[in-house]
Amino acid sequence: MKNEARVVVIGGGVVGVSVLYHLTKAGWKDVLLIERGELTCGSTWHAAGGMHTVNGDPNVAKLQQYTINLYKEIEQISGQSCGMHLTGGIMLAGTRERLDWLKMAKARGRYLGMELEIISVDEAARLFPLMNKEHFVGALYDPIEGHVDPYGVTHAYAKAAQIGGAQLVRHTRVTDLRPRADGSWDVITDHGNVHAEHVVNAGGLWAREVGRMVGLELPILAMEHQYLITEDIPALRGQKEQLHCIDFEGEIYTRQERGGMLLGTYERAGVPWSPRETPWDFSQSLLPNDLERIAPSLEVGFEHFPALGEAGIRKVVNGPFTFAPDGNPLVGPVRGLRNFWVACGVMAGFSQGGGVGLALSRWMVDGDPGADIWGMDVARYGDWATLAYTNAKVRENYSRRFRIRFPNEELSAARPLRTTPIYERLEAEHAVFGDYCGLEHALWFAPSAAEASERITFHRSNAHPHVAAECQAVREGVGLLEISNYGKFEVTGARAEEWLSHVMANRVPQVGRIALTPMLNERGKLIGDFTMARLAADRVFLVCTYAAEDYYRRWFERHAPPPGVSVRPCAMQYTGLSVAGPRSRALLQSLTHADLSSAAFPFLSFRRMDVGMVPALVGRISFTGDLGYEIWVTSEYQRALYDLLAGAGAEHGLKLFGGRALNAMRLEKSFGTWAREYRPIYGPYEAGLGRFVDLRKEEFIGRAAALEEKERGGKLRLLAFSVEARDADAIGDEPIWYDGQVVGWVTSGAYGHSVRQSLALGYVPKQYAAATSGFEIEILGVRCRATPLAAAPFDPDGSRMRA
Ligand SMILES: Cc1cc2nc3c(=O)[nH]c(=O)nc-3n(C[C@H](O)[C@H](O)[C@H](O)COP(=O)(O)OP(=O)(O)OC[C@H]3O[C@@H](n4cnc5c(N)ncnc54)[C@H](O)[C@@H]3O)c2cc1C
Repeated sequence: MKNEARVVVIGGGVVGVSVLYHLTKAGWKDVLLIERGELTCGSTWHAAGGMHTVNGDPNVAKLQQYTINLYKEIEQISGQSCGMHLTGGIMLAGTRERLDWLKMAKARGRYLGMELEIISVDEAARLFPLMNKEHFVGALYDPIEGHVDPYGVTHAYAKAAQIGGAQLVRHTRVTDLRPRADGSWDVITDHGNVHAEHVVNAGGLWAREVGRMVGLELPILAMEHQYLITEDIPALRGQKEQLHCIDFEGEIYTRQERGGMLLGTYERAGVPWSPRETPWDFSQSLLPNDLERIAPSLEVGFEHFPALGEAGIRKVVNGPFTFAPDGNPLVGPVRGLRNFWVACGVMAGFSQGGGVGLALSRWMVDGDPGADIWGMDVARYGDWATLAYTNAKVRENYSRRFRIRFPNEELSAARPLRTTPIYERLEAEHAVFGDYCGLEHALWFAPSAAEASERITFHRSNAHPHVAAECQAVREGVGLLEISNYGKFEVTGARAEEWLSHVMANRVPQVGRIALTPMLNERGKLIGDFTMARLAADRVFLVCTYAAEDYYRRWFERHAPPPGVSVRPCAMQYTGLSVAGPRSRALLQSLTHADLSSAAFPFLSFRRMDVGMVPALVGRISFTGDLGYEIWVTSEYQRALYDLLAGAGAEHGLKLFGGRALNAMRLEKSFGTWAREYRPIYGPYEAGLGRFVDLRKEEFIGRAAALEEKERGGKLRLLAFSVEARDADAIGDEPIWYDGQVVGWVTSGAYGHSVRQSLALGYVPKQYAAATSGFEIEILGVRCRATPLAAAPFDPDGSRMRA
């Protein structure tokens, strides 16, 4: 083994070899993969090899498409067959709700160029004669589904990488990783050491253990997974190979394996494997079968596919593979560790391995993953994703793998975990809570305890009239919202302005003022939207999206502040409440000696003031787009602040409101938000944020690219639509049609109660931006007329928030 390499990839499963191949393809030849056993000896060798393009996140779906298309390429380069069987597949719906879900998946697939098709039960039975029609109501057909040979794929990647210059060593275990001061690593193995500039953890079943070598606790857990292969089925003899089939009701998948069928389950009573530590002596191994555990799924399966029940069982496989809490991979550089990368938690290596390798290699070589991979970015989990949290969420996710996640559905595992001081007070007011990064936050408020739960549906739910009442209270009087779930940073030091001016696109505001700003990467794309509130010459308070806190911290580490400037995340230290609506000033004024008149405290002001006895930071700003204030206090004061506002609010008709009403009201103002409208695939001018990019500043990250976008106009435009929807509103990822063609996609949608319209925001190519008619948005298979809105439907000139 050589003792110097630019990159050491740890792990020769399907993911590690894909990373290795893609690094060579991107031009990095001095790369070395270290595998403790034989290639595939972790979870890869016993996989069923199934692959498909459909994924709830369109950006992950794109990478799955890429993976499947890649197999021909690596076969050609390596001369090694991947054992591709592109049979096509069907997903069977046993209920109307499932069919609605499939229609949604088909619609989402449209703008990705997927040729998905909703078919009748008869058509499904013609394509897949093994099914018993009476259990189903319809199906989705996908021509790009099939399976590969796990051994063939892994060796094809490995050979292609070797042809590209990479080296692989087997039977060598990495036992430790030691950082050097220059950011490089000493990779310690049981067969000598390697000094590497970069290390990639593609340790699969042992990714946690590799993480621990550098003090990292990755939120990953392996689950046992079983499939069986039947004896030969006479009906298959002489027939074309059967389609892949997913039966959601039975929670099973099935495909042909030689003369029989393979049938796998994601059973409800899933069992974690090695929840704390993965044994190092587990290699090319399987686990004891436990057919009893999957018996309920098998029973349904044999009823739905009688020929499988009649055939004997030839073989049962029980093997472990890893999941992150949300079932998506963990990819990217890790905050706090220089040149340390992860590519793990990949539960569908044969659908996703190629995309993961591509994204990671680009990130390493070009400094950017080249695609929107937020859904699999390792930074989406913070310290709150502990081992026990991960255990609860992974088990939940596994058991729900084939269940519908309704757009208004909140999952119950690992809750409540994080609560703010006023949690019990909100609970007493019949709050219906949602989970955001493990933190409870109120979605809406029911009139009574008995009504404080939400019916899950694709349509408007029982929450609809209550959310309407909350919006009305804000628009006509005053509402109170908890805003603790916003992200916050405090930037202090004499050179704070200089650093912020470099990382943010807008000008840093004067003391006492607030400025909104995009944060751009070097390519001029949106990687954040922040509120900068300046308390003093040397102290700026940043408000942003909490889920992206680690993502931002990683960026701030890469673009480190100069000596003397501190950038401190303080989201959970500052809890917050917001009052909004025309009576919010009167309410807040009744509790403070500070002058809140518009002359003394105009829109976008920010100041330290006492509210009653509570020391607070108050900003005159509200995401509702109404007159409003955000009040930040350290958490020990939050209860007192709440009691003050609630007590004084009675006189003003104060009503609590939650996240649902806030979402509706920000759409009434056409306000975008991070991870929906603002993502690293859009530029600021495309997103309508051009007015917050200050090109008069001579220098900031992304300036040159932003200037070019401004001059050339970019490619896309974010439009707001009024949608003629019936009883279901857009939620995001619906296709936007224009003149009979799919041209764009929705980023957010909701019913705008104050304007009595169903609303959506979405991107279209800029050549369509001037059209005033001809658009449709497809909601649950129905194309609804959508009219572009020239201005925000509520208070278009913004006079209310400035009042
Ligand atoms: C029963 C079953 C059926 C499945 N069916 C499918 C399917 O149909 N389709 C699909 O897409 N996926 C399927 N999977 C999942 C698939 O197997 C995984 O997504 C895939 O194997 C993940 O690959 P990996 O490279 O991340 O991990 P692994 O295969 O576990 O590879 C990690 C490698 O790293 C090596 N390693 C770890 N630590 C060290 C160290 N310190 N030093 C040196 N080497 C080290 C290990 O030896 C191992 O070879 C299935 C899994 C199972 C168990």
